[in-house]
Amino acid sequence: MTDRRRITEAPGIGKKASDDLSSLGVTTLRDMISLRPRAYDDRREERRIREASIDDPSISCRITVLSHAEFSSKAGRTLKVLAMDDDGTRIEILCFNRYFLKQQLMTGTSWYIYGKAMKNRGVYQISSFEIKRTREEAGIGRILPVYPLTGSLTEKTMRRAAEYSLLALSPIPDELPLSMYEKEGLMHHDEAYKRLHFPLSMEDARKALDTLAFTELFLMELSVLREKPNTERKKSHPTKREEELLKKLPFSLTEDQLKAAEEIREDMDSPIPMNRLLQGDVGSGKTLVAWLTALHAIDKGKQVAFMAPTELLARQHADGAAELLMPLGVRVAFITGSVKGESRRLLLKSLKEGTTDLVIGTHALFSEDVSFKNLGYAIIDEQHRFGVQQREALMNKGKNADILSMTATPIPRSLALTLFADYSVSVLHSMPKGRIPVKTYLVNETRRDEMYKAVAVEFQRGHQAYFVYPRIDDEGEGDLRDVTTMFDFLKEKYPDVPSALIHSRLPDDEKMRILRDFREKKLQYLVATSVIEVGIDIPEATCIIIEHAERFGLAALHQLRGRVGRSTLASYCFLVYGKGLTEEAKSRLTVMRETNDGFRIAEKDLEIRGPGEMTGERQSGFLHLRFASLTSDLDIVERARAEAERIIREDKGLLKAENAVLRNQMLEHRSLIQPRQI
Ligand code: ADP
Ligand code: MG
Repeated sequence: MTDRRRITEAPGIGKKASDDLSSLGVTTLRDMISLRPRAYDDRREERRIREASIDDPSISCRITVLSHAEFSSKAGRTLKVLAMDDDGTRIEILCFNRYFLKQQLMTGTSWYIYGKAMKNRGVYQISSFEIKRTREEAGIGRILPVYPLTGSLTEKTMRRAAEYSLLALSPIPDELPLSMYEKEGLMHHDEAYKRLHFPLSMEDARKALDTLAFTELFLMELSVLREKPNTERKKSHPTKREEELLKKLPFSLTEDQLKAAEEIREDMDSPIPMNRLLQGDVGSGKTLVAWLTALHAIDKGKQVAFMAPTELLARQHADGAAELLMPLGVRVAFITGSVKGESRRLLLKSLKEGTTDLVIGTHALFSEDVSFKNLGYAIIDEQHRFGVQQREALMNKGKNADILSMTATPIPRSLALTLFADYSVSVLHSMPKGRIPVKTYLVNETRRDEMYKAVAVEFQRGHQAYFVYPRIDDEGEGDLRDVTTMFDFLKEKYPDVPSALIHSRLPDDEKMRILRDFREKKLQYLVATSVIEVGIDIPEATCIIIEHAERFGLAALHQLRGRVGRSTLASYCFLVYGKGLTEEAKSRLTVMRETNDGFRIAEKDLEIRGPGEMTGERQSGFLHLRFASLTSDLDIVERARAEAERIIREDKGLLKAENAVLRNQMLEHRSLIQPRQI
């Protein structure tokens, strides 16, 4: 069904126009019908002159010419035509640079006009307009598409090109199996493309768009799922050392943690490499799932690498792993860029010879000189902080290694189903037992003292706090508070409470020493920048104060708040904001006050920021959605996914006659999906 007819065969599309069109992605007739109008111009109703208002200045109606006049303007001698519509409302038509209209608009003749009119000192005037001889030519009674334009393109050229393309390709073949149309309430594709461009009602346009969105998502899901290897799931059992680890813990794992560990174990024990995303809210206990499954891999004779985005986090994880796993006989190592000289040489040797079981580190893990004897399991913490290439580099260190990518915060469902369609997903919904939701307060200047008092009470109870500011020092940005100034201020406020200042400019070992002192309660509060945003796990901290909270995005606020509420102690988050909040900032802060649920916050964040911002690299390199919106089409995303899964279940090879259409589509739509490594 591939049709490669060029757009240049459409009337009015010469060299210039076709160059401009190609920058909109249109080179063939087929591309033209797949170009989504950015809006519609609804001219179904005639709009008489007196209906023009500031909110909606458009008019489209019949007029009769009454007389001509002239006036001088910057453009020179300018024609002014006086006319009236069928109501008898008068209008002055100002014909800038269109003196030639004098010959056409002769007194007493009738025309159809559309454009934008406005009332000027009691007189209606119009200067941006089109004049047509007939109703049809003026598009009255129709809904017209409004396209994105560049260069020399005009709406008129585009509409003609669309009309031509639709006709030339007509009848446009179905793109889905016959039964799916009725089942999913879709338009057949011939109709869908026609109605996308020239709908009969706005409802009609919506249905056409939904059909094309469904088709695009479904085909994408189908092709991703077809590439995904079949995993034969076999029940898999924890090893002795895993059992031992579980017994040693002072708490029991949540249902979700157990389930995730089981899913990972089963993948690991199957011959096909795992590619799994572990989704969980902040503090849901992802790290423990990582250690438990690392133990499984080690017991099956593999080496494990755990990669964290910062040295601080890597260190924390290495300490945690050492405490939990070394007593069980696991040989744990730590590598970052700052491990140098003889100790580095020895470390590299042990990785290569297989005398280290688990190595924890930063991106230093994939430096060229690092090689493994048998890397079988790679765990990537805070996966969004790593680029595709970095993940690939790590994977190339092992042969068919299983990969577990852990998220920092939940990913909205629509993104999980599309952008991460090539992953298996485990989700930690439930929080460990006994956690009390963090209480969040929005604080303005008048309540600042109250806040300091509340924190003092926490200090008296022996609890700990973080104070977070957006700047390291005063960079002359007026009233922005910075850590350096506030550190001194807080010292006066809480004279006997031990504290430290921590920010990105400190050397790494200094940062680590401070965090260790904080963990050991030698320090009671930290004055910090957002270096503490991700992953830091100090259970006894119960307060976080975030100043200029309006300057942080939802994801960052949620991450920061996640530094507290990590134990059974009640904890508090104070979001301090300044004057002149934008609506968007207000809505962010309100979301934070109203919910602790990272899954809901992620949905809100997607609504506010849009998918491009949220997923960065993956979005830009992976998906080219023309019709579907990941923000508003969640139901379509879900339906498309369900249908794709059904087809894979029933006819993965697409051998049934009914699915022949899909077999063709899969060849065509290759271009939709970028080759995937991870
Ligand atoms: P995140 O999912 O944000 O990475 P962590 O893995 O850092 O969360 O875990 C947060 C804290 O919860 C850690 O102190 C961890 O020891 C603790 N924890 C993990 N699982 C449980 C559990 N089942 N019960 C109680 N505490 C747990
Ligand atoms: Mg974590």
